[in-house]
Amino acid sequence: MSSLPEKIIRPEILGLSAYHVPPAKGMTKLDAMENPYSLPASLREEITRIVADVPINRYPDPFAIELKDTLRTALSIPSGMDILLGNGSDEIIQIILLATTKPGAKLLTVEPGFAMFKMIALFANIEYLGIPLRSDFSLDLDAILATIRHEQPAVIFLAYPNNPSGNLFDAEALEAIIKASPGLVVVDEAYHPFAGKSFLEKLADYPNLLVMRTLSKLGLAGLRLGLVAGRREWLSNLEKLRLPYNIGVITQLVAAKVMQHYDILEQQAGTIKQARARLSTSLAAMTGIEVFPSDANFILFRIGNASQIFESLKQRGILIKNLDNSHPLLKNCLRVTVGTHDENALFCKTLHDLINHN
Ligand SMILES: *Cc1c(COP(=O)(O)O)cnc(C)c1O
Repeated sequence: MSSLPEKIIRPEILGLSAYHVPPAKGMTKLDAMENPYSLPASLREEITRIVADVPINRYPDPFAIELKDTLRTALSIPSGMDILLGNGSDEIIQIILLATTKPGAKLLTVEPGFAMFKMIALFANIEYLGIPLRSDFSLDLDAILATIRHEQPAVIFLAYPNNPSGNLFDAEALEAIIKASPGLVVVDEAYHPFAGKSFLEKLADYPNLLVMRTLSKLGLAGLRLGLVAGRREWLSNLEKLRLPYNIGVITQLVAAKVMQHYDILEQQAGTIKQARARLSTSLAAMTGIEVFPSDANFILFRIGNASQIFESLKQRGILIKNLDNSHPLLKNCLRVTVGTHDENALFCKTLHDLINHN
């Protein structure tokens, strides 16, 4: 006999295990691509005053006009292009897939890639196609183009740089995909602050392209704000699925204030990029570690007994991400977020000790 929820809830939802977020209290947290730095005291004081005066009894501006203006300027959104805001870019992925799911519609992406593409495809009930990357995590362009011809996907999502591998895909290959696609192509630039390269300027060239950004990796993960930029023909339709007050009043006001000081976040991203280079060199110097090149604020590396190393690090108070067994190409792979100088040094020292005592 099955219980009522088991009869009513969709079987593919019953089959899911809840998204696992490991407890991190008191740990050195290098698992979630967060910016480790806080804002200058003067800016935090300004935020305190803004929050004190927030009319939380009122609904927020449903169109977030001021925030959108600030974002357009700070992120240099090309004129003539619209933007749509989401409660994190995860919500934008959901909006896009809810708008495009219909019988026979398919989503194409690459694996290993961002886990939420597959997860939200399942929520939205759109068929999922995950094309394997090559072993160096580059695009298998022939396989992708063949699948596009054969399956005619309604939507393609590609993260640029990719998560969890950290690399930027070849821009020409990406353009070939956009040109070959019969549907929408969304370039997810969550790690743009650490990469420099962008498809934003290509929006004018390709009518089937959207570019997605988030403030999460930049230093505002707690506010939950993402955006997608593109032509009005797309965004006016996606707007219809956006729930009226999806961006809360505190997020609107605080994000606008911080983005007026975008130079501070850019400077922090610059510091993180320098630390990434040092961390990468330190890891590569350790015996038995293969380090993959990164254009993001994290580093993927391969090490013997990865799962055991991950557990030992955790016991010593350092939380990174274990990707061993998550995909055949990620055998024995771990992902570490670039932290502060001290956090990176502690991580390296602890890892070095673990390797030498095994
Ligand atoms: C972290 C991440 C996101 C999600 O960002 P939010 O705005 O916090 O929802 C989107 N895409 C990729 C590739 C990411 O790694």
